[in-house]
Amino acid sequence: MFSIADKLINVRQRIKKAEIRAKRTPNSVNLLAVTKTRSAEELYSAMLSGLTSFGENYVNEAISKQEALQKLCSVEEYANLAWHFIGPVQSNKTKVIAKHFDWVQSVDREKIATRLNAQRNPEMPPLKVCIQVNINHEASKSGINIQEVKALCEQIDTLPLLELRGLMTIPKASQSEEALHASFLEMQALFVNLKRQHPTIDTLSMGMSGDIETAIECGSNMVRVGTALFGPRPEKNI
Ligand SMILES: *Cc1c(COP(=O)(O)O)cnc(C)c1O
Repeated sequence: MFSIADKLINVRQRIKKAEIRAKRTPNSVNLLAVTKTRSAEELYSAMLSGLTSFGENYVNEAISKQEALQKLCSVEEYANLAWHFIGPVQSNKTKVIAKHFDWVQSVDREKIATRLNAQRNPEMPPLKVCIQVNINHEASKSGINIQEVKALCEQIDTLPLLELRGLMTIPKASQSEEALHASFLEMQALFVNLKRQHPTIDTLSMGMSGDIETAIECGSNMVRVGTALFGPRPEKNI
């Protein structure tokens, strides 16, 4: 049995090696701990090991966990955490998401952006958003096609309480290393291109437990890691 702290050392080593191999700046890749299905106690251990960014997929689960974690942490510790929403966004959940998260990485339509902007408290810092791209055109996945990204970026730029930060993708699980590589490279090209028009864009969120190295090789600067930090999840939660 390896602890979260041990697994974190291993994940950080994987990231570091990949940065070196890809001639990337050391520590330029951020690590988001994906905590869906994990308990508040596990998040607390992760926090004590040095993790400060948590990614959640389900709104209700996330909020009850935030409340529980707040009881385990000091005020300073809790204030130091950043919460990323990474699951599909339903319009009836935007209000709660706008209130309880710092980032939404899974924005994939104008309606959602408009609602998040309208429901964000103006006293809070702007909500940081990434557009989710469905790079392999899978019917089962959220996200938009590459061709639609430009228009959504332009719309988000007009919304004062959203800050456009970049792109997120979840590539098809069962594909060859070559096909995966090609998908990530398409994302990188889009990212580089959009950055020119949108100076706030700085985040390319791609890479999960199984493909951290390939993603970093293709320019990812945020990997979202669950299983490699916390062990396998129950079947039903992908
Ligand atoms: C679950 C999930 C992850 C983490 O996947 P692992 O393979 O467990 O690392 C990353 N991103 C999103 C959007 C997820 O839903």
